[in-house]
Amino acid sequence: MTGPQTTPTPEPRPTSSSARSGGTSKRAAGRPAIPLGRLFGIEIGLDWSWLFIFLLITFSLAQGFAHGESWSPAQAWSAGLLASLLFFASILLHELGHSVTSQALGLPVRSITLFIFGGLARLSGEPERPRDEFLIAAAGPAVSVLLGLGFLGAAALLGGDAGAAGVLGVVFGWLGTTNLVLAAFNLVPGFPLDGGRLLRAAVWRVTGDFDRATLAASAVGSLFAYLLIGGGIVIALFFGALFNGLWLAFIGWFLLSAAQGSARSVLMERELGGVSVANAMEPVEPAVDGDASLDEALEDVVLSQGRRAFFVAERGQVEGLVTLHQIKEVPRAQRAAARVRDVMLGLSDLVTVSEDASVWDALKLLGEAGVNQVPVVRGGQVVGLLTRGRILAILENARELGDTRGQATHRARPEVDPHPARPRHV
Ligand SMILES: [Zn+2]
Repeated sequence: MTGPQTTPTPEPRPTSSSARSGGTSKRAAGRPAIPLGRLFGIEIGLDWSWLFIFLLITFSLAQGFAHGESWSPAQAWSAGLLASLLFFASILLHELGHSVTSQALGLPVRSITLFIFGGLARLSGEPERPRDEFLIAAAGPAVSVLLGLGFLGAAALLGGDAGAAGVLGVVFGWLGTTNLVLAAFNLVPGFPLDGGRLLRAAVWRVTGDFDRATLAASAVGSLFAYLLIGGGIVIALFFGALFNGLWLAFIGWFLLSAAQGSARSVLMERELGGVSVANAMEPVEPAVDGDASLDEALEDVVLSQGRRAFFVAERGQVEGLVTLHQIKEVPRAQRAAARVRDVMLGLSDLVTVSEDASVWDALKLLGEAGVNQVPVVRGGQVVGLLTRGRILAILENARELGDTRGQATHRARPEVDPHPARPRHV
């Protein structure tokens, strides 16, 4: 085997704390940077970071083939390119294994993206039963094992041949072992690896407690991540394999943040899942008249009340929202003349949340949309504003009082369409 022994691994749950303070506009979250098309209704694409790993693997495979097989440069490079392409096709099939199973169980999949650490399938929510979790998690490694055996079988048939068939045999041999290694690595029972999801399904089945199962699988995942980081550093420092060692440590760090993120999100769900948006929101008032100048709005609500966003009303009707972001875009000298009506984000451009949703669901929505506040609606009417600041205050109070609310009563699918990007790795 040649090249960086990278077993591509998962991406952490994109944390819901995207710190951007930008506008509140609707935008599709989690879409691949380079779209490739659709398969089974799922958007397939590449992340920019994928180009780096693709070039790296192609290059090191070609180098390895050139040295190891005494092939001509043309043979080595075409073999390297072919192996690299089929390797990422294998990862895509692994992700499709998860995704098609998920769709068959009634849980839609939004997209599959290849990125620097492998593949990432975004499911539209969490499975509702341990059995579903188990099947979705098992399907990926099952695909990799089948691919591994298939490639090894093909390699055995072609092995020893001279010319192009022999080159293909070597390429298939590498793909066979690599797919099996991939399956084995992903079966390590630490969240967020597939094995961690299998462990979570098992603990969930036995205890009936999804949160506890997530915490257990995350703890094993963190432990494994520390082992990778430690082992990677040792390999880099004492075994002369600087790049491979650092790469392992990097993957470990990556898994660690994913495992810790999922544990943190379980604890936060406990604290926020039982609080309704209606209770946590700030009132619409004081709304600012559309005719008011930005300077007036600054003086009346932003600088005197510490608000980071306010509604704009015309004849008693809420028409839009202005955040610090919009204000900052207007040069200071022009703020006396600028009307709030002209800088506001219109209601129809804003993501909204129902007052019946839980604060936890709303927080996921804020993360998805990359915004700091969301208008709250009741029957199509704006009735308030929920801000990150308010959610943070609730969390801090709950922690200070040591109060973690009811045990995981919120497994039902949320009603605000929060699409918690649930990453699946290779
Ligand atoms: Zn997987």
